[in-house]
Amino acid sequence: MTVIRVGAAPDSFESRGLYFDGDTAVGDLAHVTVDEDARALRIGRMGFAPLLWPLDDLRQLPDQAGGDLVILHRRDDPVARLILDDGLLLQRLPDVRRPAPLVRRGRLMAWAAAALASVALIVFVLVPTMADQMADYIPPAGERALGAATLDQIRSALDESGMGEPVAFCNAPEGLTALETLRARLAPGLPEGQEISVHVLDHEMINAFVLPGGYVVFFRGLIQAAETPEEVAAVFAHEIGHVVSRDPTRHALRSAGSIGVLGLLFGDFAGGALVLFLAERLIEASYAREAEAAADDFARALLMDTAIDPAALGVFFDRLRRAFGEEEGFLAHFTSHPALSDRILAAQADLPDNFTPRPLLTDPEWQSLQTICN
Ligand SMILES: [Zn+2]
Repeated sequence: MTVIRVGAAPDSFESRGLYFDGDTAVGDLAHVTVDEDARALRIGRMGFAPLLWPLDDLRQLPDQAGGDLVILHRRDDPVARLILDDGLLLQRLPDVRRPAPLVRRGRLMAWAAAALASVALIVFVLVPTMADQMADYIPPAGERALGAATLDQIRSALDESGMGEPVAFCNAPEGLTALETLRARLAPGLPEGQEISVHVLDHEMINAFVLPGGYVVFFRGLIQAAETPEEVAAVFAHEIGHVVSRDPTRHALRSAGSIGVLGLLFGDFAGGALVLFLAERLIEASYAREAEAAADDFARALLMDTAIDPAALGVFFDRLRRAFGEEEGFLAHFTSHPALSDRILAAQADLPDNFTPRPLLTDPEWQSLQTICN
């Protein structure tokens, strides 16, 4: 925009400029003076009554064109502008570049703090509470859908190539057959109507996790770290214990609910990081000690019912703990189990005298399971 210099009188406190009312694109030539009595800027235009802009409400805007135009507006009027061609008048005005008065800023901070507090309340209190209640009402089909969607996200989140390729399922046919033999062996011990599906992901992590809807997922690393099929079956049984008590559903609803709320607030920009966060939370799910103890109890009973030596559970966990230590993040799920050594002893002591384990897999079948990713 071109502003014609129409002249300013340096000795008087008056200036000329253009007044834009915000409705019309053409400005009115204005004669601007300071009305000391009214503590206001008086803006005179031909054919209009003079405008009075209180000095305390005046604010200066930067010249977006990079020039040195003096652009003033009223704090409470977002559209009207007064453009002065020189800054002499500014010397007579209060500091027009100052930020909003402190009272307002304080109020803004208070609002911001209140907003943050309510987000925290939603994320850390309401969502978990609602999730726990929702978990009891979500239908089986909904759980399956939640589990399937989460599994896809986890597979993508685990990708280390940076190509966004989801981590592959291991599906060597003989390996799958051996895995199905394990599943079928444990299945009679499941509650009526409880579906269990099992997958192996081609990833070196020594871990296993469960997702809503009865998805039990092993990593290749865990299958290879096991020394007997009974050890894999024992972990399987433990994970089924989590499924049966619906721990993953509650967990996923809590995380997804919180992430949903955060996503609404911070937009899709945060989405990728949040999905990764969700994936990590689910894989390294650290359920409450009671939940772990309950899953162990369930596993021991299930293994005994299906004639698999329940000691395999403790033996495997204990070997992992000795190999990797307590603190290893990905092992936290297994090694943080309450009083593991006590449980190993208890598992062995609990065995009835007439307990005779039935073989689980033949040696070739076990070989096939260990190479399911090849
Ligand atoms: Zn567990």
